[in-house]
Amino acid sequence: MKNLFIGLLLLISTSLFAQDSTRVCGTSITKENAKMLNSVVEEKILDPQLTDDLTNALRTIKIPVVVHIVWNDSVQNISDEQINSQMIALNEDFRARNKDIDNVPIKYKNLVADFKIKFVLKGVTRTHTDRREFAHQDGVKSTLEGGIDPWNTKKYLNIWVCDLYEGLLGYAQFPGEDSITDGVVMDYEAFGTGGTAQEPYHMGRVCSHEIGHWLGLYHIWGDDCGWFDTDQKCDGDDMVKDTPLQSCPSRGCPSANIGTCGSQDMWMNFMDYTSDECTWMFTKGQRKRAWAVLMHYRWDIYKLF
Ligand SMILES: [Zn+2]
Repeated sequence: MKNLFIGLLLLISTSLFAQDSTRVCGTSITKENAKMLNSVVEEKILDPQLTDDLTNALRTIKIPVVVHIVWNDSVQNISDEQINSQMIALNEDFRARNKDIDNVPIKYKNLVADFKIKFVLKGVTRTHTDRREFAHQDGVKSTLEGGIDPWNTKKYLNIWVCDLYEGLLGYAQFPGEDSITDGVVMDYEAFGTGGTAQEPYHMGRVCSHEIGHWLGLYHIWGDDCGWFDTDQKCDGDDMVKDTPLQSCPSRGCPSANIGTCGSQDMWMNFMDYTSDECTWMFTKGQRKRAWAVLMHYRWDIYKLF
């Protein structure tokens, strides 16, 4: 089904709707955990130690990464080069060193954040599986279920790359949930910047988005939109002060000055659903939230610099 869908996409690639309707991020959070996460962040961002660390020019956080390739068809056994291309993309996006950062509208330029986070690839595992594809929140993270168990999730960001069903591009686990399944799962066609990566998700930005969730960031529109983007509301908030309210996810490459909640949408933010070529930035508010999350939930990683 997925291959057929992608084939159709190639045939009708000029249709924005067909291209962009495929984007699905499977990340979700329970109400209870969101409440806990938000209260932890609220407290931690006031911690003087966090402010000191953030303002220390020499302080960066090094996140050790392990990439687990779980493949059925040999095409899914992506190359080391493709894995490295994703690492390069992450280290550009999270440092505001991406070549397209200059495209950020003047209005938002002063909000652009260097996250001061460096991703360091520490290992790659390769596992052949009998499973043809994986669904959301299931076995790829477990050896017993046809995937592979994580490395110590307190010390590593685990990223599994496999064939996810239909339009699912990736999903992450928010902080505060089960450590056995902590990490990010990516579809092999939305990972890296070459090889099997498919337009419009061919620049590594889906992984930046999912790691944003792993760092405690919500979708920029605050997840208050109906399934078909018809239920447009401005109540939901991503709990970050410097990102404007937005009613629903953006698709494709929106026009510059679109605004759905009385201000210009920040559709160029990595936590929106915009195509890879039109997402360029995180904000300083998002950085503060992410650092607060690392400090509280991922101390073994936070202390590495
Ligand atoms: Zn998402």
